[in-house]
Amino acid sequence: MKDERILTCEEALRFLAAYLDGELEPGMDHEVEDHLARCRSCYSRADFEKRLKERVATLGRSEVSLTFADRIRRLMGRFEASPDNRDS
Ligand SMILES: [Zn+2]
Repeated sequence: MKDERILTCEEALRFLAAYLDGELEPGMDHEVEDHLARCRSCYSRADFEKRLKERVATLGRSEVSLTFADRIRRLMGRFEASPDNRDS
């Protein structure tokens, strides 16, 4: 009987930015950590994003209009280049 839900990779990656920012709800951070401990590919991804976050923090202290998650999405190319950032 499972008493512990294991996150899928998709879920873990979705929570990763918030996890690295320390913004996850109590309990969720543990679930992400648990996934990272089991999943080498997500661990590598987390490690990469953590380094990236540290670099961004070092280089861009005065440039924090974007959230970290937005920066990461752009850097990872998941953001479609939208010329004026409109929602519609
Ligand atoms: Zn994974």
